[in-house]
Amino acid sequence: MNGFEHIEQELEQMKEDGVYRTLVPIESDQGARVTIDGREMIQLSSNNYLGLTSHPRLKLAAVRAADQYGAGTGSVRTIAGTFSMHNDFEEKLAAFKHTEATLVLQSGFTANQAVLASLLSKEDVVISDELNHASIIDGIRLTKAGRKIYKHVDLESLEASLKEAEEEGWRKKLVVTDGVFSMDGNIAPLPQIVEICERYGALIMVDDAHASGVLGRNGRGTVDHFDLNGRVHIQVGTLSKAVGVLGGYVAAPKAVRDYLIHKGRPFLFSTSHPPAVTAACSEAVDVLLEEPELVEKLWDNARYLKKGLKELGFDTGVSETPITPVITGDEKKAHELSDKLREYGVFAQGIAFPTVAKGSARVRTIVTAEHDQEILDEALDAFKRAGRDLGIIS
Ligand SMILES: *Cc1c(COP(=O)(O)O)cnc(C)c1O
Repeated sequence: MNGFEHIEQELEQMKEDGVYRTLVPIESDQGARVTIDGREMIQLSSNNYLGLTSHPRLKLAAVRAADQYGAGTGSVRTIAGTFSMHNDFEEKLAAFKHTEATLVLQSGFTANQAVLASLLSKEDVVISDELNHASIIDGIRLTKAGRKIYKHVDLESLEASLKEAEEEGWRKKLVVTDGVFSMDGNIAPLPQIVEICERYGALIMVDDAHASGVLGRNGRGTVDHFDLNGRVHIQVGTLSKAVGVLGGYVAAPKAVRDYLIHKGRPFLFSTSHPPAVTAACSEAVDVLLEEPELVEKLWDNARYLKKGLKELGFDTGVSETPITPVITGDEKKAHELSDKLREYGVFAQGIAFPTVAKGSARVRTIVTAEHDQEILDEALDAFKRAGRDLGIIS
């Protein structure tokens, strides 16, 4: 008797359903190959798109900042935890993003919460793609605004929601979408979304977590990719994926930054980033500007792996980005494929409900700029053997 029998029962059920997972500790740095259980494996599950987590320039910037300014900041931004490097970085990031201002938060997750919970009130309505990221869904749960969900990347469904919202007479309408959808790797049809929103006078927010450092010139994101600079009101992005460190940002007009400083609860009530984090993020932006070949290499590798997987007969869905799912449908099968791949030296995690819809389980792969053709051939060979062992491909 420990008082948690109800939870233990549920965990047992998860084990029976084959969806129980344990955390896999990595014993090396993040990279094209990582050490797990004392064995070297090809890493195909990280969001380290450009290999920046271990980039020498970022590591050096982090070490120097920790040495000069300390391991932590000792306060929230609004009291005593804003160092000049925090403000300097936000200005640099705003220039990079071609927006009036940016505000950095602890993570992309909290950035979405801050924006969605604070910028809207009960006179407003938020209209959200049904497959938006969990942090958007949770942010929407926190707002007092009205809510509408439209069918995934379905422009007719979006327009129907906007029409309905217009008839209902809300003060502001905010349409929110992921720029790149994290499980399928498809890109939101932003030019069309912008065109529709402009017709209905709606504000637009794009969550660019999987596009920051990946899409657009020098990895500026989805808005830049589609040449829509100035036509999307709020961009939320992450510094935790391709940028290689940790954090979330909101790129928006200066008034939004000012307002979030007063009303964004994660910003107000959680301590600021340590100097090492901010310095490494700042260095990462310089690397994006000075080493554009990293983004090119990422895309070359993505095309190579995707083509190889398709040729082997795997279902890679509708991916248009380096996120390449290998869809098994069956939840157990996805985890079996992942386990088999691990046996053959490839680390590619299975992903099942509730992260993706029931019946669309998959092994999700993300290549990085650090992989090369030889490593990817090795990975494809492991996929071939594992897929055949499990009868997924012939
Ligand atoms: C990963 C992700 C986030 C969260 O970013 P973190 O910085 O890891 O908290 C938010 N939105 C989307 C679409 C994501 O994929």
